[in-house]
Amino acid sequence: MNKPLILVVEDDKPIRNLITTTLETQGYQYHTAQTGEASILEAVSKQPDIMILDLGLPDIDGISVIKRVRTWSNIPIIVVSARSEDRDKIDALDAGADDYLTKPFSVEELLARLRVSLRRIRYDSDKLLKDSTVFINGSLKIDYAAGCVWLDEEEIHLTPIEYKLICLLAKNVGKVLTHNYILHEIWGNYTNDIPALRVFMATLRKKIEKKSSQPKYIQTHIGVGYRMLRVADDSKPLNID
Ligand code: CA
Repeated sequence: MNKPLILVVEDDKPIRNLITTTLETQGYQYHTAQTGEASILEAVSKQPDIMILDLGLPDIDGISVIKRVRTWSNIPIIVVSARSEDRDKIDALDAGADDYLTKPFSVEELLARLRVSLRRIRYDSDKLLKDSTVFINGSLKIDYAAGCVWLDEEEIHLTPIEYKLICLLAKNVGKVLTHNYILHEIWGNYTNDIPALRVFMATLRKKIEKKSSQPKYIQTHIGVGYRMLRVADDSKPLNID
């Protein structure tokens, strides 16, 4: 991919300028939009690779933008929100956003999130060429057809729930999944038992993370959910926080 094109949707001029200046210095191309309606038009006409989206827009809110874009596009959407909009952040992820940045954010943080999203795009396009019944991430391997998981060439034994969890995270690698989304996907509609999810996640991590203090594969987003990180080929964890 040469020079990824980023669509920056932000009505606040200083923040918009901070983002576009950062993108420029890093060799990204960009377009900007200041309203939700304009952002949808830009997303259709410019076909950006990634969208950075403020939730508080003057016309329609960012969550409506995500829902509309998701009806025809799978592009990574990184939401930008104020800390007071925590509930909105979760709604945005549930509506189909990939990631979020909380204002005020640092330039380094923004660039790290962009790198994660770019890896997701590359992974998605690689996946089309590869046998999609096998998932490989660093030294973790999942064979969906056989229902087996390996770490460093050694098969690890997971309970049915742990296996479902790791498959769900793997199929959404790079994307933050909210507690509600995970609970709904694993147990169906009728639970909001986040403490139970934490327990299953802890036992799963014990089996796949060598150092629990420095998880390589599964990242916790406190109060929000979890994400499986795409581990770089040199087997080092991605440093995104
Ligand atoms: Ca705003």
